[in-house]
Amino acid sequence: MLEQIRIVLVETSHPGNIGAVARAMKNMGLSRLVLVRPKVFPSPEADARASGAQDLLAAARVVDDLEAAVADCPVVIGASARKRSTLWTAMDPREMAALALEQTAHGTVALVFGRERTGLTSAELDRCSHLVHIPANPDYSSLNIAMAVQVLGYELRMAVLTEQPVSVTVAESDPPATAAQMEGLFAHLEQALHDIGFLQTGREGRIMQRLRRLFHRARPDQREVNILRGILSAAQGAKSMRAPEADSSDRPGVASGGGEPHASR
Ligand code: SAH
Repeated sequence: MLEQIRIVLVETSHPGNIGAVARAMKNMGLSRLVLVRPKVFPSPEADARASGAQDLLAAARVVDDLEAAVADCPVVIGASARKRSTLWTAMDPREMAALALEQTAHGTVALVFGRERTGLTSAELDRCSHLVHIPANPDYSSLNIAMAVQVLGYELRMAVLTEQPVSVTVAESDPPATAAQMEGLFAHLEQALHDIGFLQTGREGRIMQRLRRLFHRARPDQREVNILRGILSAAQGAKSMRAPEADSSDRPGVASGGGEPHASR
């Protein structure tokens, strides 16, 4: 559960904040930290602020981009100090914790935090399947990054502590698509929409953003992503949907059936 939650910090400027995040995480029972291009790391300042949580810093993974940090995750939750646009419906921390906990059944859930000054870019938010916002004072809503990790970490911990045992039925369905598979779908979709003349160069940004939201909301599983990509390939003319002969002879049989006896009881 909590070990299935990955905290991702994007381009953190102050090493002291990284240390404070590690401490907040360890207090709440979180242990997996990934740093995307930290300005200064490792650092004595980070160690000092981590206090007894240097082990988390020692185990932290440093990567070059957000993609590498979340590629394997079926759920990627961006933490935002602002309510961005109407495209996004942000969860509150409690809703986030319930969802995150439920989704750990499928794999690692990433919680992504932005830069101290500028937060997450809209391209980075586009990579997230969900958004969480701590409903702070609207006139002063930006928390220090370690405080934000603390609040969200607390909600995750409470969700674990108060979790009701459930009879799990999720195992029967196909696994949810990972972030990397969703990105593959979006790249394919954009290309196909160009190929069929739907998208015009220079106008794809807004439409792709809306389509990303739509597919993230739908939360397709891996098989569904494959079906969608098959449809895209067919639309691109890469393959034909029509089976040569069987097609016409099959249809009447499918449509009829009125003369069949309804039941033998
Ligand atoms: N000035 C930036 C905020 C940076 S705070 C901005 O306006 O976007 C650093 C990070 O802490 C944010 O990117 C976000 O991940 C997290 N954070 C801060 N306040 C938050 C809040 N109210 N809700 C959710 N996350 C928050």
